[in-house]
Amino acid sequence: MKRTTATRVGLFTESVIREMTRITNLYDGINLAQGFPDFDAPAELIQAAAQALRAGWNQYAITWGSPRLRQAIAHKAAWANDLSVDPDRHITVTCGATEAMMVTLLAVIEPGDEVVIFEPFYENYGPDALLSGAHLRYVRLNLDDPEMPFDRGELRAAFGPRTRAIIVNTPHNPTGKVFTREELEFIASLCQEWDALAITDEVYEHIIYDGATHISIASLPGMFERTVTINSMSKTYSVTGWRVGWVIAGDPAISDGVRKAHDFLTVGAAAPLQEAGVVALHFPREYYRGLSDMYRAKRDALLEILAQAGFRCIVPRGAYYIMTDISAFGSPDDVTFCRTLVERCGVGAVPGSSFYSDPAAGRQRVRFAYPKRLETLEDVRRRLRALAPARSV
Ligand code: GLN
Repeated sequence: MKRTTATRVGLFTESVIREMTRITNLYDGINLAQGFPDFDAPAELIQAAAQALRAGWNQYAITWGSPRLRQAIAHKAAWANDLSVDPDRHITVTCGATEAMMVTLLAVIEPGDEVVIFEPFYENYGPDALLSGAHLRYVRLNLDDPEMPFDRGELRAAFGPRTRAIIVNTPHNPTGKVFTREELEFIASLCQEWDALAITDEVYEHIIYDGATHISIASLPGMFERTVTINSMSKTYSVTGWRVGWVIAGDPAISDGVRKAHDFLTVGAAAPLQEAGVVALHFPREYYRGLSDMYRAKRDALLEILAQAGFRCIVPRGAYYIMTDISAFGSPDDVTFCRTLVERCGVGAVPGSSFYSDPAAGRQRVRFAYPKRLETLEDVRRRLRALAPARSV
C-alpha cells in the first residue's frame, strides 16, 4: 500500500495556535490564543479596499507586487527603518509574513544548512525550517531576567561554517522582547564573521512600549546586503485576514530567488488589498503612536488581570503577547493547564511548550494574546475568577 502523505508533512504537527483557536471556539470561549484583533481595522482602510474592488483591481497584480504598493513600502522603510530600498529590485509582496518567511528560506537554504534561532520562537519557523531543509540551532533567551538576554558565548558557539542564516524576530513573539542596538550589533558581527544572512521578522515593529526603540538589523553598517527583512500589514493595520506581507532583500540575487519561489507558490497576494495597502502605508506618523498607545492600555489591563488571577507575567516591551509562568497553579504541564483553562473558564491561551524545541522548557509557561477590546479583557477577568492559584488545574 502506498503511503497517503509525503514524509515532509509528517515531520510536524498541526499548529498549536490554530488548534487552541479551534478548541476555544468549541467552548464558545474568548480566544487569547491566536493573536488577532477583535476590533475593526481603520475605517479609512476598509473604505480604500472597497474602493479598490469597485475600481477594478480584480485581476492578478504583478507577481512580485503592485508597483504602487512597493513604492509605498520603500517610502515607509525609509522613515521607519532607516533603509534605502529600491522597489524594483529589493521588494516582493507576499501572502502575509508567513509566506514571506517560507519563500525566503526556500530561496536561500540548501538541505543541511544551519539556521540559528532564538527560543522561545514563533511556532511557524519550525515547519518552515523543515520544509526548506534547514537544520535549526537554538539559542535560549533567559526569561528569568526582565531584559530576556541571550548568552553571547552561546550565540557565538551556535555559528559555524555551515551557518547560512540567523532568524531574528523583534519585537519578539511570544515574549515581547525588543532587541537592543547592542544585541543586534553583536548578531550582525557574527553574520559578517561567518558570512551568514540575517532574516528578520519585524511584523510588530509599530507595537512598542516604555520607550523601547525598534531597530532594523538591515540598517546597521554593512548589513543591508546580507539581511532579508520581513513585514506585513496584519498587525500594524489590524488586518490579519488580508494576508498581505512583504520581503525586502538587500541582495538583488536573493530578491530574484524569493520572487521565483513566490511566483510558483502563490502567483501573488490579493490585488485589491495591495492597492488598499498603499493608503495604509501612507498613514501619518500619529497613527503609529496611537497604535502603541492603544496596545499599551490593553497590555496593562491584561497584566493586571493575569497577576490578580495568580499568573507570573513577563512584561512585554513590544508585540501583543504576555508570556506567563503558571507554577502557582500546581498544574502538571502547560497543555493540561490550557485545556482546563478553556473548559473551566472559557479562555483560550497557547501552551508554552509549543515555542520551544524541547517541550520541557515550556511546561510551566502559557502565552496570552491581547489584541482585544478592553470589554473583552474585562470579560476575561470575570472568567478567570473560576481559577484559583491554590486549586490545582
Ligand atoms: N502570529 C499570530 C500568533 O502568534 C497568529 C498565528 C497564526 O495563526 N498565523 O498568534
